[in-house]
Formats: sequence, structure tokens, C-alpha cells
Amino acid sequence: MKEMVPSPPPPLVHNQFESVRELFSRHVVPSYGRFNLALSHGTGTHVFDVAGRRYLDLGGGIAVCCLGHAHPAITEALAAQSRKLLHVSNLYYTEPQGRLAAELVRRLGAGKVFFCNSGAEANEGLFKLARKFGNDEGRFEILTATNSFHGRTLAGIAATGQDKVKKGFEPMTPGFRHIPYNDLAAARAALSPATVAILIEGIQGEGGVAPATPEYLLGLRALCDEKRLLLLLDGVQDGHYRTGRFQSFQRILEGRPEAGGFLPDGLSMAKALGGGFPMGAFWVRAPFADLLGPGTHATTFGGTPLACAVALKVLEVIERERLDENVRKLGEWLLRELKRLAETYPSVVRDARGLGFLLGLELAGKEEIPAFAAEEKPAAIQFTNRMHQAGVLVVPAGARVIRLLPPLNLKPLEAGEGISKIEEVIKSLA
Ligand SMILES: *Cc1c(COP(=O)(O)O)cnc(C)c1O
Repeated sequence: MKEMVPSPPPPLVHNQFESVRELFSRHVVPSYGRFNLALSHGTGTHVFDVAGRRYLDLGGGIAVCCLGHAHPAITEALAAQSRKLLHVSNLYYTEPQGRLAAELVRRLGAGKVFFCNSGAEANEGLFKLARKFGNDEGRFEILTATNSFHGRTLAGIAATGQDKVKKGFEPMTPGFRHIPYNDLAAARAALSPATVAILIEGIQGEGGVAPATPEYLLGLRALCDEKRLLLLLDGVQDGHYRTGRFQSFQRILEGRPEAGGFLPDGLSMAKALGGGFPMGAFWVRAPFADLLGPGTHATTFGGTPLACAVALKVLEVIERERLDENVRKLGEWLLRELKRLAETYPSVVRDARGLGFLLGLELAGKEEIPAFAAEEKPAAIQFTNRMHQAGVLVVPAGARVIRLLPPLNLKPLEAGEGISKIEEVIKSLA
């Protein structure tokens, strides 16, 4: 009898989200856990889904969209440069690449810059720098921190101090060992005759928003000087004015006279560098800036005129509009508000921390929040889903932390709207 049942009529309303998701489930490698949102366009701090619903974007494409969406200056820079030259290869010189390198050096210190296409690739360059530095002496080992994140290439997952990114991809690329973060004595104790560099994030982002202490940064610098190691910083997420200074170490060490002249030996950048246009870079301090000589390192798309023209424009807008000050002022306000939420709703929120516009809200465990206990998904995912229902995009970090990484030109009114929506969701869970 079954074959006589007529099939149901096609739905009258074409569900665009479902049709987009269908394309993904058929044709896109399922390596990402995605939320049930299909986004179509944006403007400023807002994005719209395919059904036309508007969201306040406090995730900023994971710290990428530093000027928000569809910024006219970026659109104009893209259009203007694309009429001249998109790409020529690094067999030749182009002015935008040279000018962008000069701008980055001016903000960091004497040294040179290599351009690439992503954060993982920028870190990969730092690994090669370290190996080249130690090669004659047979030193190659790089120490990185527990809970760190350095990208998803084979060397990136070996460097990352989280088991979940390594699982299933063994054997790991040799030459990486992990040390507890913010623990100077552990760093000293972990050194071996093969150690050549220490790499850390100024603020661990994926690891749950954990800033380095000034003492840790200064202590690592002294240790690296003493043992002739390179001190490398991963500024991919916490850099580009996210903390109110160009790099997080500059902000963390503010008001420390003994930090005068502190510089790492290498620093990786990506995420916000192109304001949404994909690019990465690493800076090398002057004494080591010529270690990677002709023929030692390369990438086809590194520093194209298009990418560099956009990145130059992003820096120009940040400087002209004093967005560093905006990040400081609004970031302080946001953190105060998040701390108030942690105090008011201790059964839902355990802690609030961060610097500038890299902020984290640590939730209670899934089992401790009755509304979350029944579902399998971790608290951070369930909370993020509820924020989406409330019309706000936030980014989970691990199982229990919610990250805010808004554009640097976030407006006070938008910050206020974000906090009141977050409070609404917390209240509904308390
Ligand atoms: C995102 C991130 C990376 C990796 O950058 P990709 O562009 O995804 O390769 C590396 N380090 C840190 C700290 C990051 O946040």
C-alpha cells in the first residue's frame, strides 16, 4: 500500500537557508562545525542572513573585519587598485608592498616584513626563520604554550598546544614542545640544548582569552637573550589595534618603564591585516631580518598589490579615525559591563576578561546551567545559538568561553545593544 501514498507537495515557500545548506552538505568538505545561519551581506557592524534578518556582528569574522562590513574606503581601495594591477608575482618590485612593509616596521621597530596569505602561513615562516637561525648549531626546537593556537597546517597543529587539533593527524611534525602559559620557571626548566625559539600569543584567543602578564613577557625576553633564543609572538588574533595598540605586547607593557625598548624577534600577523581581504605577514627584528635570503622562502600570492593597497587603506582609516582610542574607551566599558554580568549572574557567568576588543565571557559548565544540561553541545555553543536567536553574533572559544571581537569602529550605541542582548540571554538562563 505504501507506493500509493502520494508524495507531499513541494513547500510553497522556498527556504533559502535550506537550499544553501544543501549545497554544503553535498559539495563542501564538512571540516567545520557551522551554525545554522547563511549570511548574505552586511554593512558596518551588522550582517543580514538570506532571509533578510539582521544581526549585530560582535564576532567580526573572528577578529578579521576590523572596519566592519562593506566599508566604503575598503571598497574604493579594492576597486582603484584592481583597475591598475591585481598581481604580478614576487619576481618584481611593486610600490604597495614596499609601502605596507614600511608602515608595519614603523609601528613595530627596526626590521623587515615578509608577506603571505594566512596566519598559519605567517607562523610557518617564523618556524623556518627559527630553524634557519639554529641550523648551524643543530638547534631546531620551538617551545609553545599549552592552550595556544597557531594554525591548522601540519607544523601549525604541532605548534598548537591543544590535543583536539592534533588528533588523527599523527605523527606530529617534530621540533615542538609545550610549556604552561604565564609560567616563566617552566619555560626555563623546559629548555634543551636543541631549543632555538619560544613562540607565544600575547593574548591566547582560541584558548579562551588569556592575556600574558607583563612579567612573563619581560621574563621570556630576558631568558631568550640569556640563552640566545628567538622570542616569537603570534599576533594573528590580538594584533592590529585589537587591544588599543598596534600589538598586544605594546598594550600589556604600557606603564612599565623597565619594558622600554621591548621587542620580540619575530611577529606573525594576519586576520585583521587586510580588513577582510585575505593576507598574512611576519615581521623580523633587524639583527635577524636577512636570515631568510633569496631562494629560502616564497609564496605566489604574498603581498600582491591588491592585498597591500587594501591593507594600507585599513591602516590609514584606523589612524585617521583614532580607532585605537575607540577600542580603549569602549573596550574598557564593555569589560566593565561583562564583569557586572559575571557578578550579577554567577550561576551562568563565571568570569569576564580580556583587553580592548578581545573579550571573553566564561560560562558555567553545561551541567550547571539547567537549560543547557539536556543537550549534548557544550555551553559555549548553546549560548551562541541563543545569541543568534537574539540577533547577535558572538564567537565561542572552547567549551565554555564566548568571545567578543567587534570591529574597531564599533559605536557606543551598538556596544550598548550588544550588552543588553547578552544580558537578556543570560537572564533567561539564570
Ligand atoms: C586564527 C589564528 C591563526 C591561524 O590563522 P589562519 O589565517 O586561520 O591560518 C594563528 N594564530 C592565531 C593566534 C590565530 O588566532
